[in-house]
Amino acid sequence: MIRGIGLYVHIPFCASRCPYCDFATAPATTALRDRYMETLSSEIVREGELLGHPRVRTLFFGGGTPSLLEPEEIARLGDALRSAFVLRPREVTLEANPATLDRARLEAWLALGLTRLSLGAQSFDPAGLRALGRTHQPDDSLSAFEVARAAGLDVNLDLIFGWPGQTIAGWERDLGIATALGPDHLSCYPLELRLDPDGSIPNWPGGGWPVLERWRRAASAAQPDDAGIARMYRVAERSLGHAGYRHYEIANWARPGKRSLHNLGYWRDRDWLGVGAGAHTHLAGARSANPVDLRAYISRIESGSPRAVDDDSDPPSEAAMLALRLDSGLDLGRYAARFGDLAAARVRGALREVEQVHLVQLKGRSARLTARGRLLASEVFVRLLP
Ligand code: SF4
Repeated sequence: MIRGIGLYVHIPFCASRCPYCDFATAPATTALRDRYMETLSSEIVREGELLGHPRVRTLFFGGGTPSLLEPEEIARLGDALRSAFVLRPREVTLEANPATLDRARLEAWLALGLTRLSLGAQSFDPAGLRALGRTHQPDDSLSAFEVARAAGLDVNLDLIFGWPGQTIAGWERDLGIATALGPDHLSCYPLELRLDPDGSIPNWPGGGWPVLERWRRAASAAQPDDAGIARMYRVAERSLGHAGYRHYEIANWARPGKRSLHNLGYWRDRDWLGVGAGAHTHLAGARSANPVDLRAYISRIESGSPRAVDDDSDPPSEAAMLALRLDSGLDLGRYAARFGDLAAARVRGALREVEQVHLVQLKGRSARLTARGRLLASEVFVRLLP
């Protein structure tokens, strides 16, 4: 029986498509918007019944741009959530695009129990926002930050580094502005440009993948090289550390007591349900996902067919990789108790290999990524695959 879950609610709508983005997105003006919101409510109600109305421990509205929902849409979503679950979350996060947050919308989210705003600032440099194809301005992030603080919310700032033309000095300026604001939490991601089409392409009108691919190839050619990106990561570690933030996950820093409880649920391999297009779920050891294409998602829910179970998923290796992302690392004793001695010996053997090249530190039953390992985590993770 599922006792408590983390609940992720996906709102795919965006005012425009940022050309680097691979999330499950769709235009805010799509003719499918009302139908999507109705379908989402039906999925929430149905999942609540199937799972026996569990308690929601943490709630996360992600996207897309959930902050652009209208107050009536937010209220209807709240009704569905309250009817489906015991809604007593310790943390309720909303992802927000800085240009879309206004008082009326915020009030509606606050009525739903909002405690935390995750603001997609990305950069405070107008050139950076232009290079990323973002439509907001640095001042929008500053105003949205003030609005969130005035409402008593915790705030996370998302920043991207390694955008075309960015310099180390420019990145230091971004980090300086961010830390001067004093958010509770910061997520810093290197710009990674995938060169294969993602599932949300059919949701958008226009030139489709060929246009995006052209943009990404040109942007990728103008990015700092790997050594430059590695330096930027170290600059972030140093300057956020000096500003009092703990580097608790590869891409995440927090003030004491302000780690993201919802995301910790992912990294600790707990139970979570994802609803909406493209949302992933991990319940009782099984992973599954919804279609990213809006029409496919709607027809799946309307037909009542189950979510596609991920047969390729390998719970032991996923649990090891997720735990290693955290500064607390992997406890091989607990891991053996959960997955057996054989699985633990396999992981220990793989980690010994990367210990030689200083990517991992093994001490007794604990394994942790080193500073170099955080930078080259994929080199470690690839060795843990079955
Ligand atoms: S606003 Fe966010 S989710 Fe939407 S396209 Fe841009 S990066 Fe992606």
